[in-house]
Amino acid sequence: MNKRPLHFSTQLAHAGMHMPLPDARPHAPPLYQTAGFEYDDAAGAEEAALGKRYLYARDASPNEDALGRAVAALEGAEAAVVFASGMGAIAAALESYLGDGAHLVTVDGLYGGSHELIAGVMPHFGARHAFVSAATAAAIEPAIGPATRAVFVESISNPLLRVAELDQIGALCRRRNVALLVDATFATPLLQRPLEQGATLSIHSGTKYISGHGDVMCGVVSGAAVEIAKVRKLRKFHGANCDPFGAWLALRGLRTLALRLERQVATAARVATALQAMKGVERVHYPGLESHPDHALARRVLGGFGAMVSFEVAGGLDGARRVYDRLGVIARAASLGDLTSLMTHPARFSHVRLSPDERRRGGIEDGLLRLSVGIEDPADLIDDLQHALG
Ligand SMILES: *Cc1c(COP(=O)(O)O)cnc(C)c1O
Repeated sequence: MNKRPLHFSTQLAHAGMHMPLPDARPHAPPLYQTAGFEYDDAAGAEEAALGKRYLYARDASPNEDALGRAVAALEGAEAAVVFASGMGAIAAALESYLGDGAHLVTVDGLYGGSHELIAGVMPHFGARHAFVSAATAAAIEPAIGPATRAVFVESISNPLLRVAELDQIGALCRRRNVALLVDATFATPLLQRPLEQGATLSIHSGTKYISGHGDVMCGVVSGAAVEIAKVRKLRKFHGANCDPFGAWLALRGLRTLALRLERQVATAARVATALQAMKGVERVHYPGLESHPDHALARRVLGGFGAMVSFEVAGGLDGARRVYDRLGVIARAASLGDLTSLMTHPARFSHVRLSPDERRRGGIEDGLLRLSVGIEDPADLIDDLQHALG
């Protein structure tokens, strides 16, 4: 090797680049913030080209893989692949089953992005779909035809918190030999492991409870290794990778999932019960309440009732707007699964582009408010709601 001293600008360009590995293992996972990887010799580069080493971060990178391995273990899956967002994960998962002419069965009331992708974008690529009215085996079965390749449901729906009949849908999909894709964002692997109930893929918006701090976007798809290999290949060409720092943050957040969510679920139950007794509240939607239409089902398919609570207030749009305006502790913000409590007014926010009639058919009343319960002291949340309603 040539040992001539390097010129100043070359020294600068390479400064600190060859940091030796530390002589003790870092206790916290290191952040590998790099787009590419380099090798000691030609043989190393050749191995990377054959897929035996890291090469370029759009193919695979260590922080994404660390997050993927952690989620796969929690889901009881062979493998998982991490995305830049939940939508990136959902798009690749659906696409891996839906070639030209293939048919998807799904349910009314999906997350808005998923609905638009299926109804407005995928038909351009020749994929066909049917929406059924409920995530039950009885509603889904008649919609399955010879071209159906997949069924897509959400474990708990937004914003009315209807619970998918996952065990029965899983059995149906096995019997009819179609894939079952589950958006498990609201349940998380703490409350439900969809693969154990017959799902082919379990999908998360990691932006929500998985990362839990509202400071990163990511998505994860878990399943059998052969299925995940197909999804991973699509990620590479969609370029839907999570940045290493995003994956690092999400993994750090994930480690407190049980602590956060157990507290959030317990608080949600208290808030839901308190809301039922508050003046001006007409109806509370929470699967943990006996009045919820899916209470018994939730007991069967979920290990807890979740931390989302929706409720209808008197006075329609104006009534809900007045309550929303008067919140002090609970933030008026999109998203969910954050440490702090967040509220939306669906008729004026997530569902504002639907006609009043479409909203009514979907059960989105003008006075409906959706609350994502955080880790704050329950008494402060109940006070805040009481004050806002007062
Ligand atoms: C937020 C969300 C998504 C989309 O995830 P992003 O990370 O925002 O892309 C999909 N499904 C559900 C149920 C969600 O709540």
